[in-house]
Amino acid sequence: MESMKCPYCGENGNRVVDSRSHSDDGYFKRRRECIRCQKRWNTIEISESEYKKFQKNQALEEKYKKISIMYAKLLKKYKEQREEA
Ligand SMILES: [Zn+2]
Repeated sequence: MESMKCPYCGENGNRVVDSRSHSDDGYFKRRRECIRCQKRWNTIEISESEYKKFQKNQALEEKYKKISIMYAKLLKKYKEQREEA
């Protein structure tokens, strides 16, 4: 997955303020806060072992694609917000 850089200012440092596990789907949703600009955003993360499972299983691969698309949409939204600000 993408790095966890702040989508607003590009800072690498951040802390997790909320974490929700979607264990059935094998991914986590995390709410992160930038240590520099204090803005918050969500990340969708999957573990490496889950990712390997995804690669072996066609149905799961489809699911992973959906997660990737969700993530790309989120990132696009944050980038648009940053440009407007
Ligand atoms: Zn930031």
